[in-house]
Amino acid sequence: MDLDFLTWNSLMFGIGEMTLIIVLGALAVAFVLVVISIYSIRRGRLYFPRLIRSGLVFLEGLMKAFFRLLGLEDREMLTFLIKLHNTMNSAEFERIPVSERAIFMPQCLRSSRCPAHLTPEGLKCQSCGQCEVSDARVLLEKMGYRIFLVPGSSFIKRMVKKYRPRAILGIGCLAEVKEGIDMADKMGLVVMGVVTLREGCVETVANWADIYDVAVLGIDPASIPEDLHILAG
Ligand code: SF4
Repeated sequence: MDLDFLTWNSLMFGIGEMTLIIVLGALAVAFVLVVISIYSIRRGRLYFPRLIRSGLVFLEGLMKAFFRLLGLEDREMLTFLIKLHNTMNSAEFERIPVSERAIFMPQCLRSSRCPAHLTPEGLKCQSCGQCEVSDARVLLEKMGYRIFLVPGSSFIKRMVKKYRPRAILGIGCLAEVKEGIDMADKMGLVVMGVVTLREGCVETVANWADIYDVAVLGIDPASIPEDLHILAG
């Protein structure tokens, strides 16, 4: 009976010790990665992106807590996470043919007087010229992209299931883009995100320059419409 008690005691002690080592190790790794991330943000350059990305897979919650503890605003943190994600995904995005890519634009980019109607394929732009979606859509479609003007994230899932793109470019506000990236990651898609210049529920402003930069990745220059540069403003 004594022996059983001692064995049990040392087993519990061993488990406790191991747990403590794992917790302390995770804290130390998360802290170091957060310091590297903040240094990257301040220098405007990504250091050890692969390492940070791997850390985020296992220690996202812990790292976010450290980001906040070290005074990083949520917006700054999300912007960094999206930039990190785009940097890591751009080479793979580049390799996927445009015929297997789709672009999801949020409906808030439209004019408040937009005459487009909601269809099972999203809002169908009527090229009324009251917002920039029309020109962008025409040019991007010329390049071979499938474009959707979306009313919500459940719609994106439905279109992905229907058309099975391998890569998507998502446009939206900071929170939407981060949420979209997480969702697309879970669906096994190569995703790139571009955050709008002005947020809100109506008449938001897209960052056409960044959308253009992503859209032309891996595209034969001969297939890029000459007037696409107007997207860059
Ligand atoms: S250009 Fe298209 S999306 Fe923009 S307001 Fe007109 S119909 Fe709506």
